[in-house]
Amino acid sequence: MFDPGLAAALLSPPGLGVLGLLIGSFLNVVVHRLPAMMWRAWWKDSVEFQLADPLAWQPLFGGQSTPPPQLAQAAQAVDAELRKLPEETLTRPRSRCPKCGHVLRWWENIPVLSWLMLRGRCSACGTRIAWRYPAVELVTGGLFAAAAAHYGAQPSTLLWCLAIALLLTMALIDFDTTLLPDGLTLPLIGIGLGGALAGWTGVSPADAAAGALAGYGVLWLVGFIWGLLRKVDAMAEGDMKMLAGIGALLGWQALPSALLLAAAVGAVVGLVMIAGMGRDRSKPIPFGPYLALGGLCSIFFGPALRSVWLL
Ligand SMILES: [Zn+2]
Repeated sequence: MFDPGLAAALLSPPGLGVLGLLIGSFLNVVVHRLPAMMWRAWWKDSVEFQLADPLAWQPLFGGQSTPPPQLAQAAQAVDAELRKLPEETLTRPRSRCPKCGHVLRWWENIPVLSWLMLRGRCSACGTRIAWRYPAVELVTGGLFAAAAAHYGAQPSTLLWCLAIALLLTMALIDFDTTLLPDGLTLPLIGIGLGGALAGWTGVSPADAAAGALAGYGVLWLVGFIWGLLRKVDAMAEGDMKMLAGIGALLGWQALPSALLLAAAVGAVVGLVMIAGMGRDRSKPIPFGPYLALGGLCSIFFGPALRSVWLL
């Protein structure tokens, strides 16, 4: 039964704000678990398909040669360690305290409220729970509500909410680990192109496709030129895919302002961190959080942002 009144309530700023709080709670889990799941998958791949597999060895080291026996032993050792790890997916096991293992009861898992009720501490062992968890929930809820206010109570607003959730997750994972998972960047490209084809984003399919290509291409070019000058990999492919997603979502026209904003804020923060906090210059500085900022600002202030930069 489709009830237009109910749908409008769910898609209103308060409705999507509450949905955002719940999604934000899930994003905290994704940010925590997805990198660990990726590391596990890489090690699993290296054991199953690379270390001791003649089919992986021979194309590079010669058609008749076999991998040294040490590799098979290493593969077995890694495999044994992998089997000791507990199973973990995005939905299982249930959230627990990282310190004492206390499984959260339902009332300890309510976005923001539980953190306030528990005064930011685990109910079992008293360990502090980082303020970032409720902050992520609040920001997600706030941005979902803002999307409802900005784009109106219609189904296509959910596409913007999905893009916001993906950008936030990428920013946090890149900040924590300097990884930008394909499992997040490629879906952003997909919903950008799909949203344009469906007429949900207001971007023409041609502009969305050009945005994806230009977003990837411009960072590839920056990395290529920087590599020629400094002989280092300056730009990770994850950044290129992420900007491709922003370009697909908002059209190529949004890229200059989004990228300039990201670079400007990133440069200021980077300089402050190097000068003021003694951060090691050679350490990679993740660019994803700044790209996410540029993308999020473009989602809400696209035209205004363009007029500031391009006049
Ligand atoms: Zn605990």
